[in-house]
Amino acid sequence: MRTKIVAGNWKMNKNLEETEALLSELSAKLPNTHAEVIVAPTYVNLALAQRNLQASSIKVAAQNMHFAENGAYTGEISADMLLNIHVDTVILGHSERRAYFGEDDELLAKKVNTALDKDMTIIFCFGEELEERKSGNHFSVVESQLKNALFHLDASAWKNIVLAYEPVWAIGTGETASPEQAQEMHAFIRKTISEAYNTEVADEVSILYGGSVKPGNAADIFGKPDVDGGLIGGASLKADDFIAIIKAI
Ligand code: PEP
Repeated sequence: MRTKIVAGNWKMNKNLEETEALLSELSAKLPNTHAEVIVAPTYVNLALAQRNLQASSIKVAAQNMHFAENGAYTGEISADMLLNIHVDTVILGHSERRAYFGEDDELLAKKVNTALDKDMTIIFCFGEELEERKSGNHFSVVESQLKNALFHLDASAWKNIVLAYEPVWAIGTGETASPEQAQEMHAFIRKTISEAYNTEVADEVSILYGGSVKPGNAADIFGKPDVDGGLIGGASLKADDFIAIIKAI
């Protein structure tokens, strides 16, 4: 059985007090759920989030990390720094990191290797841009993103990988892939993994959808057989919306 997951990517939002308030509201309102619930606050509030959620089943993830062990990388955060505050899950490859910070498949493969060396769980994001979908290249783009950053891994490493298919044209735009478009791509991703590895790896990996998921569309998207949950941006910043999305799964 694949793990169902609802993860909130808070991006560069929420100061200390706002983070505390949102964490308290989420903990208080969290429904009984079979899904794993994850929040990814900004770096400076990660330790606070980890502390404040100790008694909760909500997990904390980082939004990014560097591939190096330590050293002269001003402004960066290492895997060991995350593990030191008991954060063992990291989002890698988010389209905003790719677009604004020049993260490419080669760099992401290094980050993936480091995270796995440290036995961390990775939420690996990928997805096509609007032009790539319009020109019908979305399947080949997604396939190459997976191949370049992940397909060098042994089958055993995939137990630490969660995939998040996030079509770039749907992130923060209010435009959502239809449930059918999401299902079509998720099924393609599973088939691609099955061909590169085997059906066991493909059947076990959780594939989240991300891109303008809201309370109003979550149930339809999550209802598709190859969609195992969501990576939520904007709607994870409001407790009631995020809780409604968790209930939808
Ligand atoms: C995201 O940034 O991962 C995301 C899915 O954002 P939004 O839900 O706001 O589209």
